[in-house]
Amino acid sequence: MSVQVVAAKMAEVELKDVLTGKDLPAESPVTPTSEGKNLIRNDPHEAGSSAATSPTAEPSAKAGEGSLGLLTPNTAKMPQGSAMKRTDPQQNGGEAFVNRDGTVAEAPRMKKIQFADQKQEFNKRPSKIGRRSLSRSISQSSTDSYSSAASYTDSSDDETSPRDKQQKNSKGNGDFCIKNIKQADFGRREIEIAEQEMPALMALRKRAQGEKPLAGAKVVGCTHITAQTAVLMETLSALGAQCRWAACNIYSTQNEVAAALAEGGFSVFAWKGESEDDFWWCIDRCVNVEGWQPNMILDDGGDLTHWIYKKYPNMFKKIKGIVEESVTGVHRLYQLSKAGKLCVPAMNVNDSVTKQKFDNLYCCRESILDGLKRTTDVMFGGKQVVVCGYGEVGKGCCAALKAMGSIVYVTEIDPICALQACMDGFRLVKLNEVIRQVDIVITCTGNKNVVVRENLDRMKNGCIVCNMGHSNTEIDVASLRTPELTWERVRSQVDHVIWPDGKRIVLLAEGRLLNLSCSTVPTFVLSITATTQALALIELYNAPEGRYKQDVYLLPKKMDEYVASLHLPTFDAHLTELTDEQAKYLGLNKNGPFKPNYYRY
Ligand code: NAD
Repeated sequence: MSVQVVAAKMAEVELKDVLTGKDLPAESPVTPTSEGKNLIRNDPHEAGSSAATSPTAEPSAKAGEGSLGLLTPNTAKMPQGSAMKRTDPQQNGGEAFVNRDGTVAEAPRMKKIQFADQKQEFNKRPSKIGRRSLSRSISQSSTDSYSSAASYTDSSDDETSPRDKQQKNSKGNGDFCIKNIKQADFGRREIEIAEQEMPALMALRKRAQGEKPLAGAKVVGCTHITAQTAVLMETLSALGAQCRWAACNIYSTQNEVAAALAEGGFSVFAWKGESEDDFWWCIDRCVNVEGWQPNMILDDGGDLTHWIYKKYPNMFKKIKGIVEESVTGVHRLYQLSKAGKLCVPAMNVNDSVTKQKFDNLYCCRESILDGLKRTTDVMFGGKQVVVCGYGEVGKGCCAALKAMGSIVYVTEIDPICALQACMDGFRLVKLNEVIRQVDIVITCTGNKNVVVRENLDRMKNGCIVCNMGHSNTEIDVASLRTPELTWERVRSQVDHVIWPDGKRIVLLAEGRLLNLSCSTVPTFVLSITATTQALALIELYNAPEGRYKQDVYLLPKKMDEYVASLHLPTFDAHLTELTDEQAKYLGLNKNGPFKPNYYRY
């Protein structure tokens, strides 16, 4: 075949073709070394072997294959077999897979995860706010966004708790608890708008509707309940699943969307502004129901999983797997696994390549300008900006600002990223070299105390200071809460901090994630994540007995590629197909996977 349209080629691949063969081993459990330095493995049977730990290891025929049992007979013969180092501690709930000094220890054969203190896991649920800042989630925009544009719900007119209301949908079904069923039409419009930007899920509905790969699946979900989640839930339903859903965050529910879902027959228990007690009550209503027991979990943050472990451990006898999306939830799963308490297979969606690239690089490239503009109306052209950290997020921010005509400086601690910044045309500086002259300071390091009081003291009048990293400690905001400084709230999420001499700096979102606090995340980004979640559910649900052990796995590379391919038609992108000769030359299967797991993209 010659050059093919991406869409026409990859997207023509049927779902069953990316689901993997029965006789293939399970993929990619994430296994740390005994020192707690985790390595992502391709094949648990090779854990600890050189093939599992060295990028130069011998090719393995099972590279990147999944394990569903529906798949193509052609096993890929691509080079692989190496462990991918995880280099972003933030993406792993603070647990780096490599040492801070960059060393990686060889993992002992089949060594299970060794975390320090397992007990802290499910006993110490982070506070809602704390968890929000830790968890990079499907719709965290609405979560973190107190002035969120993601929800137009105004619930101030109705103070009655949904728990005290008896509501039914137009078909007489009352198995839900939401703010107001009358908002369903409005919510339906929101869902329809989201559908336009979630092409992969819509394609999946069409492609797999006949197969119904989730027939018999009873999915209990705990995620942000937004229009994008609704598109996911309706897709799962179209593929045969029954769903019961609660919100993973007390603020993030779009009430009108919850209403539309309830009207459509979904058992949804969520509303914006739940109390802590409501939060657990809603989760309980999802699982504690007569005549219905979940066999799949879709979680974001780990609270649902925690609740079932705590209250209904016997349920795990019927549960085939957990799909977890957030950094925090994944971290909790690793700890459970380490403690030997993970009793079903779990899929770590957070670390899928497509999710990470889109969430970190592209999403931030899009949303940094939006967040700054909405809060400050700043003009970017000619402005001097310093971006701290040139990782994925920093690269996205720098690219966007450069394109707008800003003069961009970068600070880095890592010479490789520093060199990348130089090669991309940015001036690499130390913060104190430019702090007096810059108009905007942006942190994206995932580190703490990157901008400290001394830096803040030296900034010029009107300097805008904000953070794009996950924690609100990158800027030492606490150091600004001293008696001699005056704080003036000038807009939602915008504070002027005023020095005794009248100098003021413009602090955005009190140092929390700017884009998640002050703008929205593009639906297209959420589409990638939601598609990955759907495929992970399908994979785990259909995996033959024993294929996945009680461990944490990455989505098979081939399915990651499939997620990307389903999004390509949006761009009318034309993908080239390998010739037989080329495939043989590269040692690849023509249908992928095309890269080894250690490939960095
Ligand atoms: P990354 O590890 O790829 O990049 C961080 C960079 O910061 C690294 O290159 C590191 O060397 C550098 N760094 C560390 N300390 C530094 C310091 N003191 N000064 C200068 N540079 C320093 O991580 P990433 O994927 O770019 O993510 C960065 C942060 O953003 C993380 O906290 C992540 O959780 C968060 N994040 C935010 C969003 C968002 O939407 N805002 C999306 C994804 C990730």
